[in-house]
Amino acid sequence: MQKTIIEPFRIKMVEPISMTTTSQRRKFLEDAHYNPFLLHSDQVIIDLLTDSGTSAMSANQWGGIMRGDESYAGAKSWERFNSVISHITGFKHILPTHQGRAAERILYTHLGGKGKIFISNTHFDTTRANIEYTGAKAFDCPHPESDNHDSDYPFKGDIDMETVKELVDEWGSENVSAIILTVTNNSGGGQPVSMHNARELSAFCREKGIYMVLDCCRIAENSYFIKHKEPGFEKKTYKQIASEMFSLADAAVMSAKKDALVNMGGFLAVNDETLARECTNVLIISEGYATYGGLSGRDMEAIAIGFEEVFREDYLHYRIKSTTYVGEKLNEMGVPVLMPIGGHAVYVDAKKFYPVIPVDQYPGQRLACDLYIAGGIRSCEIGSVMFGKYDKKGKLIPARQELVRLAIPRRVYTQSHMDYVIETFEMLMEHRNKQFGFKITYEPPFLRHFTAHFSPCGNC
Ligand SMILES: *Cc1c(COP(=O)(O)O)cnc(C)c1O
Repeated sequence: MQKTIIEPFRIKMVEPISMTTTSQRRKFLEDAHYNPFLLHSDQVIIDLLTDSGTSAMSANQWGGIMRGDESYAGAKSWERFNSVISHITGFKHILPTHQGRAAERILYTHLGGKGKIFISNTHFDTTRANIEYTGAKAFDCPHPESDNHDSDYPFKGDIDMETVKELVDEWGSENVSAIILTVTNNSGGGQPVSMHNARELSAFCREKGIYMVLDCCRIAENSYFIKHKEPGFEKKTYKQIASEMFSLADAAVMSAKKDALVNMGGFLAVNDETLARECTNVLIISEGYATYGGLSGRDMEAIAIGFEEVFREDYLHYRIKSTTYVGEKLNEMGVPVLMPIGGHAVYVDAKKFYPVIPVDQYPGQRLACDLYIAGGIRSCEIGSVMFGKYDKKGKLIPARQELVRLAIPRRVYTQSHMDYVIETFEMLMEHRNKQFGFKITYEPPFLRHFTAHFSPCGNC
């Protein structure tokens, strides 16, 4: 059998990329105040800013878009959406939302409040924001192996049960609103969660009467890792693995912008009748009527089709292997990347990449800017620009790590695009003794990474 893994699709429609030169990009970046978020998309050659909402839809999904039934109530597209999602998840009540954070807001506003806590392997930023907004606290319990970049432990996304038990003892199970298992663990490097860990958590939650929620944005990618790395799952299909994981939880929140292969959408799924009714009331006030929520009929069609396609063997194999391809090539070249490679992104350790640049000059921002100038590649700093805070004297309290994330959109780029990314890293590898980074010249009070302005601390 051939060793080459090919993209399991032919290209039917193309979107031209505007090619640019290094000197044009220097100017674009200066105009964008050295913040890649402020670039125009046509100034970017390869956009690895996020895998969220950036998937290419299939011909089948586009066909579904034409078939969308836009009836206000009881649309056929709703019935298709409801039937696919309840079949895969096993949940009785499915609430359509405009994206993942709307499902989070509805559920966590209901469960949360002052004096309550939530526990998770790692809360995603919108998850934490929705929880803290209710006055509740959010505690992360990542697996101890998740901090060790060189360990090849296959399920670094696991929740640490020891810390979970300590927190529950300390706060009392009646004050724990929910324990949220995020699969794969996005903020923890896209690392997978094992079924063993999910089963252990589920048994614990049932014993203590605590709600277990699955944040299932990337559950198909997670199922791939379980099938290939966890003993006992070799013969199961990806869908069976996902269904088993859903069966362990009491509710699920989903951003369809990830593993449902669409550009917008999400859902909340629950079993409990009373909870479903209360959440539906909030859905109707804030998102839309119960049979469309935040979505149009055509969106529901595309999600129903995408959530089936994502579990196909050839798709998942290509998806995970193509992310691994980039990560392993970079690793072989000596680029410091987080190992093993997760499902949707490759994370580069910028502090190791540019060892001379001090943390308060944001080595991740420097690497993101250099990738753009050298190759027109847009990536995302996940370090002290995103998570840094200041002490009372205005000194930077750095983030735990200085990372740059290369998120891979689904079905969008081919292997030659990725080879171009790898080659750009080869060029940057020759200049790793860079001395300076950036200073921030403007920042808003919240989520500063989106809109901050920077200037170089030397001559770029
Ligand atoms: C993207 C994401 C969300 C939020 O979903 P949106 O569709 O962006 O609102 C929540 N949790 C995780 C793990 C995510 O990756």
